[in-house]
Amino acid sequence: MNIDRLVRPNIRKLKPYSSARSLVKQGQQVLLDANENPFGALGRYPDPNQTELRAALAEHYNLPENCVLPGNGSDEIIDLLFRIFTEPGESNVVIPQPTYGMYEVAANIQGCTTKEVMLDDSFQPDAENILGATDAQTKMIFLCSPNNPTGNLLNPERIEKILNNFNGLVIVDQAYLEFSESEPWRNRIAEFPNLVVMQTFSKAWGLAGIRGGLAFANPEIIQWLMRIKLPYNLNQLTQQQLLKALKLAPVMRQWVKIIISERNKTAKTLQKLNEVVAVYPSDANYLLVKFNNAEAIYKKLKERGLIVRNRSTLPGCENTLRISIGTPRENSLLLKTLQNLSTTRKPDTAQKLATS
Ligand code: PMP
Repeated sequence: MNIDRLVRPNIRKLKPYSSARSLVKQGQQVLLDANENPFGALGRYPDPNQTELRAALAEHYNLPENCVLPGNGSDEIIDLLFRIFTEPGESNVVIPQPTYGMYEVAANIQGCTTKEVMLDDSFQPDAENILGATDAQTKMIFLCSPNNPTGNLLNPERIEKILNNFNGLVIVDQAYLEFSESEPWRNRIAEFPNLVVMQTFSKAWGLAGIRGGLAFANPEIIQWLMRIKLPYNLNQLTQQQLLKALKLAPVMRQWVKIIISERNKTAKTLQKLNEVVAVYPSDANYLLVKFNNAEAIYKKLKERGLIVRNRSTLPGCENTLRISIGTPRENSLLLKTLQNLSTTRKPDTAQKLATS
């Protein structure tokens, strides 16, 4: 597999911006090279190579440093991939639906066509259909596992089949990995030259506010991401906070345990409600719930200050709401509110029966 062949010609020719700070280890020299204000508490540009952070990430994930790149959220990684590998007006990508909306938005911004293939009835990818949708201009296939908004892990054999039979990149987005008990795809990058795995600090790690995402791939792909990213994409505070977070992984694991237990309890209670048609199994920190009338429930919850995500307009997700798992108090408030809606609806049902 020749990765360079997949890179847009203008990117291949690009002479990257050489930042004043890329060759200097901060704190050891008199720094008069970057027009900073020497009096500022955060007056220095952050390390564009993220040297300390990448070393800590490599150690934490037990992978070589040149196989990992932190980004300004994994949304930045998605955007960078489109800009490196897709030619506006020419390339296309395959996005199995329903899934995370940002892949399509990033494609549209780049002027890249999207080919939508439906996941099957269990929200699993049909490898034949997905591969069948590719053509010579298909540069990437996006697979989200656990999938947003459906919550399920994608079958690893099917992902493997796609990886083995596609001549472009396969992006496996594992934003919700920590809530599942599956083997991380990042451990298989050495097997697949066309695999890019994404993870994030926004979910299990509880750091959505500082923006930290991760790309794992072979060095050839990582160096292209390095070449085109903005030099100071990861600010100093984020780099520092991520370094601290890695030392607090046990706390993250405790949160994950609580969230999983809350998710399972919430799912059980939801299943008993009159309005609920189905609660889909989840390996993530949210539940996709099918209602008789999702829009009506959504509005009533909103009126009571409870905001969930209406996913009903997504293909295959008619009448569904995606409900994030919050604190135990927030979850029981949601359940109580839904239970109350149930009881207030009962007279309607009784009346309907009386008149039918
Ligand atoms: N991938 C998936 C599947 C997501 O659900 C999200 C956030 N909703 C992201 C990526 C983006 O995460 P980040 O905060 O790292 O940009």
